[in-house]
Amino acid sequence: ATGLTRHFKVGGTMFRRPDTLRAVEDVSLSVRRGETLAIVGESGCGKSTLARMLMRLIDPTAGEMSFEGRRIEGLRGAELSALRRDMQFIFQDPFSSLNPRMSVGRIVGEPIETHAPDLSAKDRRAKVAELLEQVGLRPEHADRYPHEFSGGQRQRIGIARALASGPKLIIGDEPVSALDVSVQAQVINLLADLRDDLGLTLVIIAHDLAVIRHMSDRVAVMYLGGVVEEGPCDAIFAAPRHPYTMALLSAIPEAEHGLERTQIELVGEMPSPIDPPPGCRFHTRCPFARERCETEVPALREAGDGHRAACHFFEEIAAETPAVVARGG
Ligand code: SF4
Ligand code: MG
Repeated sequence: ATGLTRHFKVGGTMFRRPDTLRAVEDVSLSVRRGETLAIVGESGCGKSTLARMLMRLIDPTAGEMSFEGRRIEGLRGAELSALRRDMQFIFQDPFSSLNPRMSVGRIVGEPIETHAPDLSAKDRRAKVAELLEQVGLRPEHADRYPHEFSGGQRQRIGIARALASGPKLIIGDEPVSALDVSVQAQVINLLADLRDDLGLTLVIIAHDLAVIRHMSDRVAVMYLGGVVEEGPCDAIFAAPRHPYTMALLSAIPEAEHGLERTQIELVGEMPSPIDPPPGCRFHTRCPFARERCETEVPALREAGDGHRAACHFFEEIAAETPAVVARGG
């Protein structure tokens, strides 16, 4: 995706021009085949809007998207449904994303019917059974209804449905954030296993860095509609460059990541995307902010091997906060 932007018009009346909500502003990201990209940020940072654009559920206001070298932002009708075979989604809420009146067999079987209409009913049932087993459920679950399952199991049903068309890319919009913490790791591990077994490419949207740490190759951190840092997952955790990423990491208990680091506390609320601060959008909450930050927008700059950060002063900040030290083990 290049320069992806999505604005919404909000609050317009007959007498007043609507405001422009800058949900996503000039975001460029790419993911290689077989890779897992995590897009992380607080709620309201624009990550769900970005996901919905990538899924082609909403159109971008500006920017380009391609899949396997082909532009997809304008696809409609038959071309769009062909794209849907290759690109599937998992939604945040396994309670509302599954039709309660459909049996699990129909929920998972429907996309098979759409994308392989010539398959006999018997073969389709066999395929559904295979998919259910792939996600850790049992073939006989096909006759049951979503309400008979726990949250984690429902998300497994959602994953089976996403796999039904044989996709190459799966986009998950906070696929585990509605689940109990104890179940989150199981679903994340399932996704990682499926990725490895089926050669899938994953894009996972999350608000929690800890959740995606062990399954991501690359991480993009979003703040107020823009990517502030992007890079290899290990580099983001071991040597974050952007103060916002440092703050997100500070929120993870040290015991969980085994890294000792300077704590950066996030103060205040994220400003409104209707009237975002000028200059660096993070300057109203940044402990390192200086005058230049209030006027000059920082570009995403190289910060090491494939690692980029949008901060005027990341070199100096890294020198001031050397306390990121890996502990043994
Ligand atoms: Fe903080 Fe300035 Fe860097 Fe923005 S550009 S993150 S305000 S130091
Ligand atoms: Mg969301």
